[in-house]
Amino acid sequence: MKVFHSTRSTEQTVTSKQAIRQGIAPDGGLFVTDQLASIQVAPACLAGQTYRQTAARILGLLLDDYTADELDRSIRAAYGEQWSTPAITPLTQVGDDYVLELFNGPTSAFKDVALQILPRLMSQALPQGDDDQRIMILTATSGDTGKAALSGFADTPGTGITVFYPEGKVSQVQRLQMVTQAGSNVRVCAVRGNFDDAQSAVKTIFADRELASTLANGAGTALSSANSINVGRLVPQVVYYFHAYGSLLDQGAIKAGDPVEFFVPTGNFGDILAGYYAKMMGLPVERLTVASDRNKVLSDFLTSGVYDRNRPFYTTTSPSMDILISSNLERMLYYMSDGDTKLIASLMEDLATTGRYQVPSGLLRRIQSLFACGWADEDEVSAAIHDCWQDHNYLMDPHTACGYHVMNRGHRRDGIPRILLSTANPYKFPRVVGQSLGLATQGSDFACMDVLSDATHTQAPSNLRNLETAKVRFTDCIDIAEMPAYVRRAAMEMNS
Ligand SMILES: *Cc1c(COP(=O)(O)O)cnc(C)c1O
Repeated sequence: MKVFHSTRSTEQTVTSKQAIRQGIAPDGGLFVTDQLASIQVAPACLAGQTYRQTAARILGLLLDDYTADELDRSIRAAYGEQWSTPAITPLTQVGDDYVLELFNGPTSAFKDVALQILPRLMSQALPQGDDDQRIMILTATSGDTGKAALSGFADTPGTGITVFYPEGKVSQVQRLQMVTQAGSNVRVCAVRGNFDDAQSAVKTIFADRELASTLANGAGTALSSANSINVGRLVPQVVYYFHAYGSLLDQGAIKAGDPVEFFVPTGNFGDILAGYYAKMMGLPVERLTVASDRNKVLSDFLTSGVYDRNRPFYTTTSPSMDILISSNLERMLYYMSDGDTKLIASLMEDLATTGRYQVPSGLLRRIQSLFACGWADEDEVSAAIHDCWQDHNYLMDPHTACGYHVMNRGHRRDGIPRILLSTANPYKFPRVVGQSLGLATQGSDFACMDVLSDATHTQAPSNLRNLETAKVRFTDCIDIAEMPAYVRRAAMEMNS
């Protein structure tokens, strides 16, 4: 059985269920397993597989204290009719390269891949036979994660979810996506403040022992988070790297064992870390390229070995990559340093106290032998959206466009297919995409969708277009100070 421990110490070990239930290790580190490299998936067996079959194979190897039946039920529920294509993550040829679309789920963004299955995995990690025990997920969101988490947890047995978003600081579409969410176990609430205020308040609530015992005794509820450091979010993302390889085999573009490379728009290092896991498990990955937006803390790190969050923060057209602390990078550093928990603990201590750390030069060279990087400013993003449409009739969103820009700056290595991960449907960002194509983008986000649709003869996904007339369920708006009381009330109501 796979055992997991913290990136910062090996003292305590847990199973995958416990790791998913706990989210973060008690010492603040992230759960990792040292048995990754002992799993080797033969490339030839990836051909002719459906997404679900590949998911069953990969999840079965990594989450091996779940029964095959538990995983099978989770996979069926997570990757079913709520996706707009049975391929789940289709691979499309664009020019001489490939785009792996991760946005065909119910909220039209890549977070669905993980957040459709995490709730099922979490629900099965609850103590068996105790129907009064439930988990309430608590999330502060700047936009995308909130909706994907709501959609995943809605009506999942044994769970509830409360999402806080900063009033007036998310887009019209993002707000409507959240406040129209169906489900008896969901709550959505605006807070007066910015995202950081809301996020800090959520952290304070998690650390509040008195509230925790009130919730445990009064409502049988334990609080948990669904953020991207959870093993249950990371592992499902490993699947699409293997599935993309299988698609290339099926299309006859490669033979089993041939190398491929991936370009990944990333901020928190979650999406690309999953590719590194796939490589450790035997996928022939030649190179992984990080694509950043103007908040290029990751690109700077991969270039210089210095991670420094003491820098201006930019609000860009790719909001989901506007991040200065890349939590999941810690896992890559763990593996690349051959599991040097002392080093990781001291680097993370440096980050906490000074906002900065530097890795030894040998480690940097090792990282650079696999990871490349690049970044795009907003003008380059806009030009990339424009050029890709003009050259290939393929419409992409601003996050994906960062990757497209970086990919086209580099040279293609002879015969090695390049795969760009596409993380959002372009209609999630209709104004920016429309402007990039030179269209008139006045009025609401919905007017922009229609303009974009008319000009490109493409269609907005109905889950986005229909938001204009969807029924609003949640109108609460509170002060930051009222958040703990709101959480207590939500927990009581949900378990009554
Ligand atoms: C979350 C997100 C990303 C970045 O994901 P990481 O976990 O930071 O790798 C990129 N694009 C979109 C649209 C996202 O929602």
